Amino acid sequence: MLARLFRLHGLLVASHPWEVIVGTLALTVCLMSMNSLATSSQMCSWNECPKVEEKVHSSDIIILTITRCMAIVYIYFQFKNLRQLGSKYILGIAGLFTVFSSFVFSTVVIHFFGKELTGLNEALPFFLLLIDLSKACALAKFALSSNSQEEVRENISQGMAILGPTFTLDALVECLVIGVGTMSGVPQLEIMCCFGCMSVLANYFVFMTFFPACVSLVLELSRESREGRPIWQLSHFARVLAEEEDNKPNPVTQRVKIIMSLGLALVHAHTRLAAEHPGQNRTVEGPVAKRLESGGTMLPLKLTSMDLEQVITLGLALLLAVKYVFFEQTETESSLSLKSTIISSPPPQKPRVAADCCRRDLPAPKPPCMMNGTLATSPTSTSSAVSDSKPSPEADTAFRETEAPPAASVDNSPCLPSAAESLAPTPRSPQSSCCSEARTLEECMAILSDPQRGASFLSDKEVMNLVTSRNILNYKLESVLDTPERGVAIRRDMLSPKLPVRSALASLPYKDYDYSKVMGTCCENVIGYMPVPVGVAGPLLLDEKQFHVPMATTEGCLVASTNRGCRALSMSGGCRSRILADSMTRGPVVRLPSACRAAEVKGWLETSDGFRVIKEAFDHTSRFARLEKLLVSIAGRNLYIRFQSQTGDAMGMNMITKGTEQALHRLQQQYPDVQVLAVSGNYCTDKKSAAINWIMGRGKSAVCEATVPAKVVREVLKSSTAALVELNINKNLVGSAMAGSIGGFNAHAANIVAAIYIACGQDPAQTIGSSNCITQMEAAGPDGEDLYISCSMPSIELGTVGGGTNLLPQQACLQMLGVQGSSSSEPGENARQLARVVCGTVLAGELSLMAALAAGHLVKSHMTHNRSKADSPETNSSKSEATA
Ligand code: NAP
Repeated sequence: MLARLFRLHGLLVASHPWEVIVGTLALTVCLMSMNSLATSSQMCSWNECPKVEEKVHSSDIIILTITRCMAIVYIYFQFKNLRQLGSKYILGIAGLFTVFSSFVFSTVVIHFFGKELTGLNEALPFFLLLIDLSKACALAKFALSSNSQEEVRENISQGMAILGPTFTLDALVECLVIGVGTMSGVPQLEIMCCFGCMSVLANYFVFMTFFPACVSLVLELSRESREGRPIWQLSHFARVLAEEEDNKPNPVTQRVKIIMSLGLALVHAHTRLAAEHPGQNRTVEGPVAKRLESGGTMLPLKLTSMDLEQVITLGLALLLAVKYVFFEQTETESSLSLKSTIISSPPPQKPRVAADCCRRDLPAPKPPCMMNGTLATSPTSTSSAVSDSKPSPEADTAFRETEAPPAASVDNSPCLPSAAESLAPTPRSPQSSCCSEARTLEECMAILSDPQRGASFLSDKEVMNLVTSRNILNYKLESVLDTPERGVAIRRDMLSPKLPVRSALASLPYKDYDYSKVMGTCCENVIGYMPVPVGVAGPLLLDEKQFHVPMATTEGCLVASTNRGCRALSMSGGCRSRILADSMTRGPVVRLPSACRAAEVKGWLETSDGFRVIKEAFDHTSRFARLEKLLVSIAGRNLYIRFQSQTGDAMGMNMITKGTEQALHRLQQQYPDVQVLAVSGNYCTDKKSAAINWIMGRGKSAVCEATVPAKVVREVLKSSTAALVELNINKNLVGSAMAGSIGGFNAHAANIVAAIYIACGQDPAQTIGSSNCITQMEAAGPDGEDLYISCSMPSIELGTVGGGTNLLPQQACLQMLGVQGSSSSEPGENARQLARVVCGTVLAGELSLMAALAAGHLVKSHMTHNRSKADSPETNSSKSEATA
């Protein structure tokens, strides 16, 4: 009800700004001209307005000094808070409001007290204490969050509905509380309290009428001046309404205020009634009585005499003014100058000095990321520097052109060193503690949520405090902070002390990495990246094309051995490959009330109608996924449905899971008693060894073959066809059968698959299914001395788009093979080509390892190339024939 009233009032004021403004001004002029009232000595209705004594008591001086100091400190904090709100519009409008309300107050009070400026002089500090710029800002923010003039009105009325009752109650409580001061018996305090009450009322009046009208008018005029585009249309203000809840008054506080004001009203009533009674003693005696006798003339204070209280007040005011003007105001400017300093002369690994250390609020320029020879920049890491501190385009260009290591030179986390620095043996600079005073959580949050400042204005220590207090969630550090790299650095800093070895992360790199490609896609809670050596094997002559195959591995000999296989194949006219099938699978498990009912559903799924319905639901989830087949199995009342679909150039697990989910919804519409237990029922089967993949295939099914002439077997592989064929039978076929292997009829297909997968951004866990391979060898040629070798791999799960293939280094490896991204000829062709390369390289690896085993070279070459020199006494290496 009350809120509705205030809302209507707000709407009225915002819709008729001119009328309200003119009305308020007219009222002010009227008050000014009410000289009859001004001459009245009874304007202070609580007591007769006390006048200043000729002799000022020391207690008065102390109270006055304290009040003045408080007022100065209060105003200082008000301005500080306003700066944190961050908008010059808000600041300007709030300032306007303050000035105007002061004007109204002064005018009214001066006239009511017979133009006695001396009283006002005493009351001014007290009056300042009553100004609350945040109220004006809160209402202004409501208005500024609008996109049109209609919205301005609506939002002002909404703001008024929310803020109006609180402010009214606040004004009432303030008046009553301050009114108590008029009964204090301290003459000057009584004067100030009179002024205070008037001030509260004047402020309230202006806030409820003139201020919203001004805001509405200013916004309307500024909108018109920009051809319909409002100047205040700043996206961040939209958030204000979302935070509406925060503006709502706390009901408990409201209740306390109401009870308090009732109590105070009683106190006032009692005191004043007693004062009006002629026979009764006045509450305020002595000085007031004397003042009344003195005829009501206010005596001016001797402003010229520099006594102690004035020195204290003046000193404090000067101190805070200097702090505000010279220290806080210049922060923004200094950030700009720092940037230009960096741009003009990037000092590599600049040591931390005190000056740097104290620049905790500086926005950091976004570090460019050198990857694969290209300058990679993070699209998500927005430069959240204050708008007027953004570097000029020229400066920005200059910065990029320097190609200096930016993370080192513009590290904006001076208070806490990066993990590497903090863990390095070099002692920390003693000055690094100079920024130890962190701001409060509330202040930090205000800065963080201010789009014009943001996280770059917080020190690392403050960010850590916010993480510890869960104001920032640890896993969101990269996205919340100004640059993802800073988020990673802070996570490392927070983690290091908890590790068994504090310096554990020192050698795990994290700088100069494009985390934007990782976030939300590849990894969470990132603390760095793992550099894995990448070797190259080849050229591999496959289908009459040469491929240089990137292999990321830490197993010595692997690349060398594969390289030898490639060489043998090249000298044999190369190898040939075919793709036999291409479809990814997902096998959910659903449950039905009975096995018979499950059989019924299975039957329906196997009809062409059932398949069509499910396919329709599945296919519309992707441009590439097209359902080809459903393989349905029953175990009791559980139904396992293996969805099979091509997935274009993507490996396709996400894609097909999405399709499967939709298809299951459709199945449930058909059979409401279908209960989906899991979208994956291990019937896929993904990342686990399974006969179904080996038999039915999964992903790409490929086969590759080659005939190696006897000469090459002898001279390059240092073996013979007969020895290789025999070994293959006894090891890869019989040996694996004896071990009960599924798909493991090979020497080391997984080695090659894993190395290529890591290099090319594949899901390494899919090495399990992808390395299913049977290697076969036969004697060939007219005299049976040549070697025929084939590798059949039914379940190569890979892609050239999606997942880790989006990362730049991985893309570089895919580019080496000419298969990065979507195929320009036909969707899926790049992925299939990659599968052929994998199969061909596996064949090369099989050839080489089998030859090494047959010749008894394996142990020797591994001892030479795969053992840590530090751990082994065998330092005399003889070059293995594996690398020959
Ligand atoms: P994805 O990135 O999730 O999906 C591929 C995206 O690329 C789709 O949005 C697709 O478009 C689009 N696309 C553009 N051009 C394409 C083309 N030529 N061929 C195919 N798609 C193209 O990749 P995904 O392969 O489906 O999933 C790979 C990720 O899944 C990996 O990170 C892997 O580790 C993870 N994974 C997930 C599961 C799981 O159960 N969900 C299991 C194992 C692994 P559309 O939107 O039109 O399809």
